[in-house]
Amino acid sequence: MDVIYRYDPYADPKPRPAADAKGAIRTLREGNDRFRSYIDLIQHGIEEGRNGNAQSVVVEAEPVRMRIARAVGGQPHTPYALVLGCSDARAPIEHIFDQSSNDLFVIRVAGNVLGTECLGSIDYAVRNLGSSLSVILVLGHTTCGAVSAAVDLYLAPHDYPALGLTHALRSIVDRVQIAVRGADKAISRVCGSAARNHPGYRDALIEASIYLNAALTAFDVHREVKLFDDESRIRIVFSVFDLSDLGVRALPGSRDEAATFGEVTGKPADLENLGDEIAKAVVAKGMLGPETQSALKV
Ligand SMILES: [Zn+2]
Repeated sequence: MDVIYRYDPYADPKPRPAADAKGAIRTLREGNDRFRSYIDLIQHGIEEGRNGNAQSVVVEAEPVRMRIARAVGGQPHTPYALVLGCSDARAPIEHIFDQSSNDLFVIRVAGNVLGTECLGSIDYAVRNLGSSLSVILVLGHTTCGAVSAAVDLYLAPHDYPALGLTHALRSIVDRVQIAVRGADKAISRVCGSAARNHPGYRDALIEASIYLNAALTAFDVHREVKLFDDESRIRIVFSVFDLSDLGVRALPGSRDEAATFGEVTGKPADLENLGDEIAKAVVAKGMLGPETQSALKV
C-alpha cells in the first residue's frame, strides 16, 4: 500500500485559530477529527491490501516534516494552547490534534501529574505566551500505566514498598492517589459499596480515575494560574485520549461533541459532582455489569 500525502507547500498557511479560548478549543476538536479520519483511511487501505486489493491511500495533509519546515521557515507565531499530557508514547499530543510545530506548548509527564517543574513551565508559558495562549488542556489517556499503578496500590496497599521503590516513582503514584480515592468514593455513591466486589471493579476504577485525575490536575492548574494572574483570560479544560477509538472526551464513552473538553470551576463541590458523572458514565459503558447498568437506568 502506498500512502500519498497531497499538499501544496506554496499555499497560504492555514489560518491561526481565533484568538480566544472558543476558537482554540474548536481547532483542537477539529484537529482530532482529522487525525481520526486519516487513521481510518489508512486502516481501510491496509485492510483492502490484505484482501488482495492493494491501493494507494491519498491523504490531503502535510507530512509532519513538511509542517516543521514551514513553521521553522518563517511563520512567526507562538502557541495558542498549552497541553499537559502523559509521557506514554501511545499518546503523542501534536499528532492527536493534528497540529503543527509551534502550535502547542506541550508538557509531558507520566500520569499528567502536576509537579513543581510542570508548574514552572506553565508559569513560564502564561507569562511569556500570554497574548497568544488562550487555553490550557490537561489530557489523560485510557489504560494509563501511572494511574493503573496508583489503583493497584490503592486496592492492595501492602504492595506499596515494591511499587513505590524510589522517591521519584512515589512522587508520581502518590499524586494520583487522591483521584483514585475520589473515583472509588464516587462509584460507591452512585452504585453502592458492593460494586467493589464486582469482577470488573479494578478496570472500572482505573477508567474513572483516569478521567478524574485529568480533571483534578486541571482543577489544581486553575488555582495556580489564578494565583499568579487573577484576571487571566486563559480557559482551563481537561479531556482524555481514548486509545480504543482515538477520540478525546471528558466523560467515558461520551459521543456528545459538547463533552469533548470538560471545564473546571475551582469549586471543590463541582469536582465531587463531576466524579459522580464520571462514575455513571463508567456504569453506562457496562464496566460493572448489565445488572448495575439497569439498576441505575443509564
Ligand atoms: Zn499514562
